[in-house]
This record gives sequence, C-alpha cells and structure tokens, in this order.
Amino acid sequence: MTARPTISDQTAEHDHSQCIRNAISTAEELCIRRGVQLTPIRHKILELIWNSHKAVKAYDLLDLIRPVNDAAKPATVYRALDFLLEQGLIHRVESLNAFVGCRSSGTRHDQLLLIRTACHNVEERSAPQVFLALADEMQRASFIPQRKTMEIHGLCKTCQPE
Ligand SMILES: [Zn+2]
Ligand SMILES: [Zn+2]
Repeated sequence: MTARPTISDQTAEHDHSQCIRNAISTAEELCIRRGVQLTPIRHKILELIWNSHKAVKAYDLLDLIRPVNDAAKPATVYRALDFLLEQGLIHRVESLNAFVGCRSSGTRHDQLLLIRTACHNVEERSAPQVFLALADEMQRASFIPQRKTMEIHGLCKTCQPE
C-alpha cells in the first residue's frame, strides 16, 4: 500500500515527510513543464510552508528564512509567495491572512478549507457537490464569481471534546 494520504485523512497520523516530498517534486515538475523558475528562495518558501499542515503567515516565513538567507526582505518573501500562488502551489487562507500548501497543484480547482481552531491544521477538500450547488446559485443570481474561497473554522475529530 502507498503511504500517500488520501484527501480525506490528510492530517490524521501520517508520514508527513512524504507530503513534503510529494509537494516539492510536484512543484519541480510543474515549473519545468511551464518553463518557470523555482528559484532557491521560492523553493525554500514552499518547503517552509509545507513544514506542517498549519497555515503560515508571511512574517513567520520571514523569521524562518532569515537564518538561511540573511538578505531576505519582506518583499523577497512576498514576491516568492505571489509566484507560488500564481502557480497554484499554495493557497491563501483569507480569514487567517496566511498560506498553506496545495495538495492538488497542477489542476484548476475550487477548494473548501477546513480551518481547525484547536490544532491549527488546515484541511483542503475538493467538495465538488458544494461547488456545483454554489455554481447553480450564482447562475440563478446572474452573478459571475471572480474569486471563490470557502473557509470554515471548527474542530477536527481529534480536537472535539469527548
Ligand atoms: Zn502531511
Ligand atoms: Zn489546492
């Protein structure tokens, strides 16, 4: 059996080093295929974001990157984040003003982000039925959505009280 966690149990006990390896190798392949550069700083920022399934703020990234790149400025970090967002390698968690790695980079997708208020992990789900229903509603409202983010804050199974 493969150790790769499925989209539905992504933050349960798992070999997270596998998540990091998958994310980095997917990013490397995508950038080569698209002819864009995953420069060392972009690579490092992506790695730092994938350090866990928790959302990371830009200034935390700056603190983390300084020991390895003391020339790093806030603008350096923001530019790298913009690139990673553009390439769909990470998602912005709007309600936290923070970032998480994308688990299905390389495909255009809507995502429902479940933000866990106790353990702070963020789970990305594709929730196709939800987005179909939403598309329906938008159509009925004659509304053209330009940006869709769906974020729900709550408790995961592990953090729910008995
Ligand atoms: Zn993981
Ligand atoms: Zn994603």
